[in-house]
Amino acid sequence: MNMALKQSKKNKSPVYSASRESMRDSNDKPFDHPGQQSMDYEKFFAGKIGTLRKEGRYRVFADLERKAGDFPKAFNYRDGAVNEVTVWCSNDYLGMGQHPDVLEAMKTAIDKCGAGAGGTRNIAGTNHYHVLLEQELADLHGKEAALIFGSGWTANLTALSTLGAMLPDCVILSDAQNHNSMIEGIVHSKAEKKIFKHNDVEDLERLLSEYPIERPKLVAFESVYSMDGDVAPIKEFCDVADKYGAMTFIDEVHAVGLYGQRGAGFAEREGLMDRLTVIQGTLAKAFGVVGGYVAGSAAFCDFLRSYGTGFIFSTSMPPGVAAAALASIRYLKEHNEIREKHQERAATLKRRLSEAGIAVMASSTTHIVPVPIGDPVLCKQASDILLDKYGIYVQPINFPTVERGTERLRFTPTPLHSDADMDHLVSALKEVWASLGLKFAA
Ligand SMILES: *Cc1c(COP(=O)(O)O)cnc(C)c1O
Repeated sequence: MNMALKQSKKNKSPVYSASRESMRDSNDKPFDHPGQQSMDYEKFFAGKIGTLRKEGRYRVFADLERKAGDFPKAFNYRDGAVNEVTVWCSNDYLGMGQHPDVLEAMKTAIDKCGAGAGGTRNIAGTNHYHVLLEQELADLHGKEAALIFGSGWTANLTALSTLGAMLPDCVILSDAQNHNSMIEGIVHSKAEKKIFKHNDVEDLERLLSEYPIERPKLVAFESVYSMDGDVAPIKEFCDVADKYGAMTFIDEVHAVGLYGQRGAGFAEREGLMDRLTVIQGTLAKAFGVVGGYVAGSAAFCDFLRSYGTGFIFSTSMPPGVAAAALASIRYLKEHNEIREKHQERAATLKRRLSEAGIAVMASSTTHIVPVPIGDPVLCKQASDILLDKYGIYVQPINFPTVERGTERLRFTPTPLHSDADMDHLVSALKEVWASLGLKFAA
């Protein structure tokens, strides 16, 4: 405190206060730089936004008010009006964000512990709910330990940047379609990076074989890719990683809660959890809350807890959030029928769309239903008409989320989307396709 006082007094030195004042009072304009102009920052921002508008990919957020107890319905605030819409693009894949057990757990924890965590994990911010949640996640993935983060994005960034920076002379092999959070973590680590062709085991092996066996290597990939709905060859990736002495890091963000007998993800479904060094996931998608995590060995989690700056220097999640996530994981562990219903809904929507001549991207073997449009302007128009005329909300997906020319509508049917919701969606899409002149499939 004394230091702070001294510091602030020091800042009020005569140089800082008096001379600047006197500069302003004088008439000789010392800030003028004849013949030079400072940057017009506002013009720069507006110009960058103009580029997005010209390309038809300026992003407009739907201003929603979700209705607990009435998922997937929400109110949409737009141009001064409020209308009820059916949400068709939420990552709350199972509607757990409004599940009574989850809401009850969150309310109870808030009443017991208050709103915020009160600190970083190291300094007064470890709440008992955090400890329980990490134990639950370790158990879910069959690992010794788990570590939670403010988001899945931060979990990927922190884990990969710390591993890449600290493993001596590490080379990271990264799938070409990896999520931004993994790419940022790898870039930030400054480790050598090699990109292998998407889901291509041979290409991965070719790259791995170029390095001496003793050199540390990390193979990073996802299980379910959220925009194409395809799945990695996890077993084959693990086999080549083992052959060349590499660690494996899997992002199961779009699979946790959704696949496997207890909802631990694709690696559980394939019986491969013990083959992966690190399993990363989110609490924000199928679990319906917010937060991210990694699960792995006790030594790995202790290492990341101790060296990962994105873990160390950020306030831990509110106890209510941890309690809600815990309740959601526990519920989904024991309710495989909700996963079966989810798969049935996705399969039904795919079938109904193809019967109507609306092509679904062939890549998807999962719950994600991407419908290609291939043009940012048409994609946005289709989305706007669906919202304005039919009360259907599906966000247009454009660059940089997907490559240019592969713009699409991405539908995520949940167990709570009814047959009537699907009837309405399919007939609306047929009309929109006709009115915009989009191609029907044979
Ligand atoms: C959404 C997403 C993340 C980030 O998770 P959040 O919890 O939303 O921050 C990480 N990886 C993939 C593949 C994602 O789609």
